[in-house]
Amino acid sequence: MKMRQRSNRPWPALRTLALYTAMACMTTLVASTPACAAGDDNNVEWSGLFHDQGPLYDNHSEPTASQSVTLTLRAYKGDVTSANIKYYDKSDASFHWVAMHWASNDTTGTFDNWQGTVPASASQKHYRFQIADGTATAWYNAAGISAAEPSSGDFIIIPGFTTPNWMKNGVVYQIFPDRFYNGDTSNDVSNGQYTNAGCASEHHAWGTSVFPRHKGCRGMVFFGGDLAGIDDKLDYIRRTLGADILSLNPIFASPTNHKYDTTDYMRVDPAFGSNVLLQKLIRDMHRTVDGRRGRIVLDGVFNHSGDTNPWFDRYHQWPQVGAHESRSSPWYGFYTFQHWPDRYSTFGEAQFMPKLDYGAAGSAVRRQIYAGPRSVMQTYLKPPYGIDGWRLDVPQLIDAGGRNGSDAANHQIMREMRSAVTSVNANAEIIGEYWDDPAPWLDGGDQWDGAMNYNGFTQPVSEWLCGTDEKNQPARLTATGLDHWLRRARADVPRNAQETMTNFLGSHDTPRFATRCGGEIGKTRLALILQMTYIGTPTIYYGDEYGMSGDDDPDDRRTVDWALGTIDNSAVALTRKLIAIRRQYAALRIGSFMTLLTDDTNKLYSYGRFDASNRIAVALNNDSVTHTITVPVWQLSVANGSQLTDLISGTVYTVQNGQVSVSVNGHYGAILAQ
Ligand code: CA
Repeated sequence: MKMRQRSNRPWPALRTLALYTAMACMTTLVASTPACAAGDDNNVEWSGLFHDQGPLYDNHSEPTASQSVTLTLRAYKGDVTSANIKYYDKSDASFHWVAMHWASNDTTGTFDNWQGTVPASASQKHYRFQIADGTATAWYNAAGISAAEPSSGDFIIIPGFTTPNWMKNGVVYQIFPDRFYNGDTSNDVSNGQYTNAGCASEHHAWGTSVFPRHKGCRGMVFFGGDLAGIDDKLDYIRRTLGADILSLNPIFASPTNHKYDTTDYMRVDPAFGSNVLLQKLIRDMHRTVDGRRGRIVLDGVFNHSGDTNPWFDRYHQWPQVGAHESRSSPWYGFYTFQHWPDRYSTFGEAQFMPKLDYGAAGSAVRRQIYAGPRSVMQTYLKPPYGIDGWRLDVPQLIDAGGRNGSDAANHQIMREMRSAVTSVNANAEIIGEYWDDPAPWLDGGDQWDGAMNYNGFTQPVSEWLCGTDEKNQPARLTATGLDHWLRRARADVPRNAQETMTNFLGSHDTPRFATRCGGEIGKTRLALILQMTYIGTPTIYYGDEYGMSGDDDPDDRRTVDWALGTIDNSAVALTRKLIAIRRQYAALRIGSFMTLLTDDTNKLYSYGRFDASNRIAVALNNDSVTHTITVPVWQLSVANGSQLTDLISGTVYTVQNGQVSVSVNGHYGAILAQ
């Protein structure tokens, strides 16, 4: 289902620049300010330039239509003679210029801060900086620094677009319910309890093979995990680990263990419990633990139903007349038949997943899934349920007439879906499953809040750490390659969407991270340090916290070994410590991100996360041997003689010559905080 090509978003044609003159310094600055007085050597020092949309450089990360946005650009003290914001405004499809003025120095006297303000309005804007030192010019945007003016990768301002703060500040724990914990053996599916598509149900003992005894029947293997089991283990999720957002793979009635073929969206599968038990799980998850209200997100499989759904009823299981049974069925229009009843649009090649036809605006399917007050999506957002968001399964494919989405109709449906969801709960999260650049669903601020970050996290991190991509195909990134990939992926989406992208090491659709990394638990530790200090919502696929292994589906859905899922396990203890660190420091969640060092020879990577309160340097060693990492913390305006504490080990370092030298074990890291 993955598409490998990146989308090439055309950039609005550049308009002729008529009136701009490089006089910002003369016209807006007092002549004696350092920026104007010094350094006219016709050379912009690229290594001193910095801006992102963190709190020190952008005064309104989520502006309303009436809030102007003051931007700060950093340069070496005295290096720059003028700086300008050049922004494209969608309302008039034109570029506009704002001359920046010198505003301040940093506390170490190393840098100048220049400022300019983009005026308030309701329209979306994209901006880049033009920086001059005499005759030399540099350009800076989210994609990086260049001598020539860039044509893509600008920073994005979307007035009125907000993403949930609980998602920006939370940690997700994702569970495949049949495999997590069996809290109620009375609801277990037994051998041969029922058949589906020629396969008899198979009960497997906890901890045994996930592979079916009968070939081709992998969806019919059951271990007995359920909602009662998840509820029993909330203390593990919330107190042992410290995660505060629960994300469940599908839980609605379906004949398979994965339940991506829904029989009844309005009923929790009896092998998982009941709708009453779901309400209890939501209530229990919403309890405040360590000062935080917990949250719960469900998996919405709305591109297709199951063929056992009464709307379709391929096997004549229901008294109602389904679309597969009669063209007079009230639900005939819910599906797209090329030749009734045997040829119809499906998800991929899966005949048991007939594709829903969303038809035109106001269609019955749209009302049923999201638009009506009793729709599936609205029902679970409202009392007596009150979930906090939806993860959408293959939402890019949702469409009308059997077309496979990613077109204007798909985006319109996503906009309607967002309106419906936010009409019930303005603070709800919508996460799209998408494996490539999700910008078309995020860069307007009117569809999803974030996406599963296969593209901007899982794949590049796997390639750097494991030498394979997320599907375990050989692929290797250097530290420099990783840094470039991460930057480019961040540049594709608005800042507040970056902050709610789910950053996971693996999922139910990838071979396990530990398996991709050859079973080396040290790489899991290193990956956890990166995951918990990067931009986006850390998301732990159950078992990854202790290095659960397994190949691709179904082997990535093994049962939890509760002898390993315990605080006595050093990887679990590290996960707990890292989550606590992330919770303690807002800089790690919503602070700026600055690359500090890439060393491809020694496989080292270092970056800063910082805000007004804290300056943190993360240093990662992806080699198998210990290295001394010399981190240029002067880039974070950390002064000589000051001290940084490694939040993992507790070791204190003193800054000398603008640097700290940190000895980091192989496949490990340090989180150096001031
Ligand atoms: Ca059970």
